[in-house]
Amino acid sequence: MAEFRLPGALQPGVRVRGGMAGKGRGPALSARPVDPHRIRRRSEARAPRSALGRWASLAVLLVFYLSTVQAQVLSTRIWPAKDYTRLTLESKEPVDYTIFSLKDPERLVIDLETSELSSALAELNGKVAADDPYISGLRVARNRPGIVRLVLDLKAEVKPQIFTLPPIADYGHRLVLDIHPLVAVDPLAVLIEETQQRPVPTQPAKPGVARIATIVIDAGHGGEDPGAIGRRGSREKDITLTIAKRLKALVDAEPNMRALLTRDGDYFLPLNVRVEKARKVKADLFVSIHADSFTRSNVRGSSVFALSDKRATSELARALAKKENEADLIGGVALVGKDDHVRRTILDLSQSATIDYSLRLGSSVLKQLGGVNELHKPHVEQASFAVLTAHDVPSILVETAFISNPQEEKRLTNQAYQDKLARAILEGIREYVAKHPPRPSGPVTLDRLSPRS
Ligand SMILES: [Zn+2]
Repeated sequence: MAEFRLPGALQPGVRVRGGMAGKGRGPALSARPVDPHRIRRRSEARAPRSALGRWASLAVLLVFYLSTVQAQVLSTRIWPAKDYTRLTLESKEPVDYTIFSLKDPERLVIDLETSELSSALAELNGKVAADDPYISGLRVARNRPGIVRLVLDLKAEVKPQIFTLPPIADYGHRLVLDIHPLVAVDPLAVLIEETQQRPVPTQPAKPGVARIATIVIDAGHGGEDPGAIGRRGSREKDITLTIAKRLKALVDAEPNMRALLTRDGDYFLPLNVRVEKARKVKADLFVSIHADSFTRSNVRGSSVFALSDKRATSELARALAKKENEADLIGGVALVGKDDHVRRTILDLSQSATIDYSLRLGSSVLKQLGGVNELHKPHVEQASFAVLTAHDVPSILVETAFISNPQEEKRLTNQAYQDKLARAILEGIREYVAKHPPRPSGPVTLDRLSPRS
């Protein structure tokens, strides 16, 4: 795993064998261009030998040839977002690359050691969205034999991060370039801006309500991580985003609540970043929206989960937490320096109180979901979900329905049903907030919400 942070200044190139940095095959062998004539000359120079010996040497040559064949980029993707823009290059074999930045104007250059300009790479030309926050243009061309050069024209100085991911799920080797802004997007600033823009509520805030409750709504998966996929091809990441946006609109219409989405588009966010967003805005509640899947298509129903500071409450809950936690591996995170968030937080004693409140919130939401769908389990289950580990924010994960069940998949993509699900979750939140109004001394009060503070 290689990770580089390049400041904007002109850099000497950083050359890495994709996915193999620092280990495995040596770069001298892997970087050598294929030269079949040289191979042939070598074989002819040898003394005559037995048939077995000839086969053995042919096998050695084949292995040598395969090890020197340059990887080919088979697919490319760009995920633009305000948080960061991600460029993914996927190949069957790891790709060697060199990266450097140039100033005036700001550019990033990646030299890929690949034998040809594949159609997937060529497609990148002009594939940048006009509203990409960080990239203004992208050019790809053959630079010299065996090298294809990508030049990214940038809108401003950025913080690039490049890393490789080993094959997982349906993906081969991935070379990932994340383009972060120099100053990270502050979720609190986003929340303040959205709160100021929202229409004045028709109902006045209830007397005695000390402040507005902040609900962070997390649309599960996104970008490289589609989540579960239904038989009709619906993707969990799209369904979760639609329901999350719907729920945000409903929460924002409540006089004593406001919502922040962890992601508002189709891009991947690591699980710990989702948790951090909730903590940065000092959220009162965190609700992560998902759609379940199972190998048997007749399994159905809604369920709600909370964190467990002990063992999972069932084997199924444990398996589900493991599957949801794998989102980081599929979505793609530079794991260098990533801490073990779950283990670290579970040691925190304050977690038990938070889990207790999470269970109360979960029960309220589950009860409401029972009005729109049958329940997969009649009580809130618990397991080690990495996305539920904000130790001071009651957090639940809602599996709205089974996308693997054809009837439920159909309903999950139906607008009216998505609305019913969002309303049920809202009702659960309302019931919880009525019983446990946000502490007046708590997190972010309205008067602290001016940009000057
Ligand atoms: Zn999920």
